[in-house]
Amino acid sequence: MAEAIPLLPIGLSQADSDTPDPSRTAVRGARKKPPPHLADLDLAGRRAAVAALGQAGYRADQLSRHFFARLTDDPADMTDLPAQLRGELAAALLPPLLTAQRELDCDGGTTRKTLWRAFDGALVESVLMRYPERVTMCVSSQAGCGMACPFCATGQAGLTRNLSTAEIVAQVFAGARAMASGSVPGGAGRVSNVVFMGMGEPLANYASVLAAVRRITEPAPAGLGISQRSVTVSTVGLVPAIRRLAGEGLSVRLAVSLHAPDDELRDELVPVNRRWKVAEVLDAAWEYAAATGRRVSIEYAMIRDVNDHGWRADLLASLLAGRLAHVNLIPLNPTPGSRWTASDPAVAQDFQDRLADRGVPVTVRDTRGREIDGACGQLAATVRA
Ligand code: SAH
Repeated sequence: MAEAIPLLPIGLSQADSDTPDPSRTAVRGARKKPPPHLADLDLAGRRAAVAALGQAGYRADQLSRHFFARLTDDPADMTDLPAQLRGELAAALLPPLLTAQRELDCDGGTTRKTLWRAFDGALVESVLMRYPERVTMCVSSQAGCGMACPFCATGQAGLTRNLSTAEIVAQVFAGARAMASGSVPGGAGRVSNVVFMGMGEPLANYASVLAAVRRITEPAPAGLGISQRSVTVSTVGLVPAIRRLAGEGLSVRLAVSLHAPDDELRDELVPVNRRWKVAEVLDAAWEYAAATGRRVSIEYAMIRDVNDHGWRADLLASLLAGRLAHVNLIPLNPTPGSRWTASDPAVAQDFQDRLADRGVPVTVRDTRGREIDGACGQLAATVRA
């Protein structure tokens, strides 16, 4: 059962009753950028920032260890720093970025969605999913999304703004801290995987997402130390950005939201296809696979009588056979007001069989979090009454 828990202390805000909450007092649009934060910077940048405050560079390393290794942003915990300096450094480099506005959970507390409010009132969501063998954080890269895919809840609202690097890292940090504290049923643990499958198109916010990937994957104290291979960047298929990502020397997994093997249908389901066609997107995907040695995930939402025809499975198989690819079939999560629904299970099975018969690796994606609107494509960041 979904349970609403308002304003949990899991947020990164250190709001106390007599401190005005900046997210409430800020006038929308009055400030353009989120406040700068330690997690926006690499180690050298942090040392420079600390030096600009008139402090020795090693203070940046101490601060980094608190944040990235001990997962604390509370100055009271930083006992290796002089008391006055703690407050000063935290105020300058660890400002509250995201405040938990609402938290919903299901699956006995092992799936939890958090609605976050940023400094300017922008709303984003993240989802933590604990499985027996892994813990995945699904994070947002933008508030809203400009890609306008008609079956996706986030796509309906349009783009509000890009998130900063630190706002992205903050979502993973919150999950890591929840896991470390033992507050997620199953005992204390770690976040093992990060997927950029929350709100937004990560490759449309390239620089911030790239820096966030580095921060999430660099070993502490530079970053959170999650393996690059356990990070997935999911895209509608922004071809130049896929090519650029292929040249970054990373080994993160690329997921391409294909949803149709033919341009006629994909033009409708993923409107950016009007700019970059199926063949171009797949060419870029194979470049990525060649550069990284990593199998590309092909995401395919199964939409009843829209994209689930046998001939489309055969066409998809012919595009993918012999390639370094894996198909993830996602039963469509119907969004409010949508005319579409998930494929009939027998039809979905036939679609899967047709791919498997041609040697294309295929699995059906688990759709955790449906009850809390936390499943793929359901994140819309509405605060319901
Ligand atoms: N913008 C990126 C990442 C966010 S969406 C992208 O499009 O890849 C993460 C995945 O959820 C994408 O594959 C997206 O197409 C899929 N998705 C969106 N809405 C969905 C829905 N209603 N049901 C199932 N999957 C959906």
